[in-house]
Amino acid sequence: MSTPNVLILGAPGAGKGTQSSRIVDEFGVEHVTTGDALRSNKGMDISHLDTEYDTPGAYMDAGELVPDEVVNEIVKTALAEADGYVLDGYPRNASQAEYLDEITDLDVVLYLDVSKDVLVDRLTGRRVCSDCGANYHVDFEPPEEAGVCDDCGGELIQREDDTEETVRERIRVYEDNTEPIIERYDESGELVRIDGEGSPDEVWEAVRDAVESAA
Ligand code: AMP
Repeated sequence: MSTPNVLILGAPGAGKGTQSSRIVDEFGVEHVTTGDALRSNKGMDISHLDTEYDTPGAYMDAGELVPDEVVNEIVKTALAEADGYVLDGYPRNASQAEYLDEITDLDVVLYLDVSKDVLVDRLTGRRVCSDCGANYHVDFEPPEEAGVCDDCGGELIQREDDTEETVRERIRVYEDNTEPIIERYDESGELVRIDGEGSPDEVWEAVRDAVESAA
């Protein structure tokens, strides 16, 4: 089996990060995620672009999209270096989708389908380890000791953009910008729609089958 190029789509909180990690472990591909790449470069000076804010972090804290010029460059470099990948968090609008068409060939496009109420509950309750990045949820997947990572003992924190106000804005931005591109992949027959409301293990079964049939 060749190493697949996988695109995983879905709203913030749909479970893209969780399923992407499993795809990485099972299929030996790179995890290319614009959210993590931007979090590591929150303070980068982008004032030369003459856009609304001067750093990626300012866009992220407002729940808005970082300018395409910045994100496209990150993705182009990461995909060029990868022998098989799962791309997570990109494309988020029509122009990013067109750019992606130009720079790569996808083997499978997955869409994790989750309703809005479930998304808000998942995101506002999410806690992330500040040391190793492991994800928890205060109700659905609590750590053994509140505020402490089971894996490494690191401190669990809430992402700055997981507050209720910013979560609602992120979902609004998703509905305006990203939903139309999901329709586009659907119309071209490439999209594999997966019910994302089951447990991580249930969702994984469907995800693994879809990637296996494409690889
Ligand atoms: P995520 O971790 O994927 O939810 O992304 C967190 C934030 O990073 C988003 O709310 C955006 O501000 C920014 N971001 C991530 N991916 C993109 C992208 N493809 N285009 C623009 N902004 C992005």
